[in-house]
Amino acid sequence: MRLKKTTLTWMVLGLVAAGLYMARAPISMAIAKRVATQRLSSDPLRGLPDGLHVAICGAGSPMPDEQRGGPCTMVIAGQQIFVFDAGNTSARNINKMGFNAGNIHSIFLTHYHSDHIDGLGELMLQRWVSNSNAEPVKVHGPIGVETVVNGFLQAYSLDRGYRVAHHGDAVLPNKGFGAIAKSFALQDDKATVVFENADTRITAFSVSHAPIHPAVGYQIRYKDRSMVISGDTTPSAHVQREAQGVDLLVHEAMSTDLMALIQEGAHEAQRDKLAQLMKDILNYHTTPQEAADIASKAQVNFLLLNHVAPPLPLPGLVDVFLKGTSDIFKGKIQVAKDGDFLSLPAGQKIIQTSSRY
Ligand SMILES: [Zn+2]
Ligand SMILES: [Zn+2]
Repeated sequence: MRLKKTTLTWMVLGLVAAGLYMARAPISMAIAKRVATQRLSSDPLRGLPDGLHVAICGAGSPMPDEQRGGPCTMVIAGQQIFVFDAGNTSARNINKMGFNAGNIHSIFLTHYHSDHIDGLGELMLQRWVSNSNAEPVKVHGPIGVETVVNGFLQAYSLDRGYRVAHHGDAVLPNKGFGAIAKSFALQDDKATVVFENADTRITAFSVSHAPIHPAVGYQIRYKDRSMVISGDTTPSAHVQREAQGVDLLVHEAMSTDLMALIQEGAHEAQRDKLAQLMKDILNYHTTPQEAADIASKAQVNFLLLNHVAPPLPLPGLVDVFLKGTSDIFKGKIQVAKDGDFLSLPAGQKIIQTSSRY
């Protein structure tokens, strides 16, 4: 009797599973519709406390990395979305984190190495189509930003025509396509104000990424919270000056030890030119230990290591990457990954960390 009951239970469960399997397409459709409606009607900005927030839309370097796309740091100041650098995964990662690229206020570029600009075309396209924007997005950068923006505008000029012809100007305003380059000059002894309104102030300052000139970092202030993005640089006195006392320093970092491993591997594989390339790139970046030293001297509260190179596919490699940093800097240190989210509520001292993936 007991056996029969068990058999019956299994039969019923089997029938239910078979029924669900047969109905998987309509069930999936119903779930997808609900998720799509929720995503399209919700505004993630509204749920955030007033303050400064950082969403990592690309924590990597030009080296292919499964956990980290090309450089992209989204900063939310109040209800304004600013994007710093437009690496290859920017638009997708912003969407994946639940934000609407159509709401981007403006974009800021640190320099024009390909890994910092190769996602700009897609980002300006998503900014245009997601909200039917009637104004192109502003792209701020030091001298050279016109060349980059005009190149993308030309490359996307056919696409612009296709989309307006297909959807019509009322749905996709032709004049909202693309981007407007806004270049700024730099001063050696102080930062340049590149954006300012009642509660927000963004300044740019030169960094050391020779032979790449110009190359800049940015300081962002919103109400009483503040942060600095180093851009690509060797240890820079300007970064240290601008980061003095800020809440958060987002600093690039490249591990000499791990790059040496790749260099040795390239030599052993008799790929000497690749080995030379791995050696060359060390001389215009900062090690995690040097970044920790700057964070310590600038007395920041939190150091987020970004533009992470090389990739860290094994947990043990993160330990190698961070080796010795906690002896140098006593504040909190985190190695950035795509989807990382840091919140700095106004009127408080805290920095809350989470992931939006
Ligand atoms: Zn870079
Ligand atoms: Zn660079």
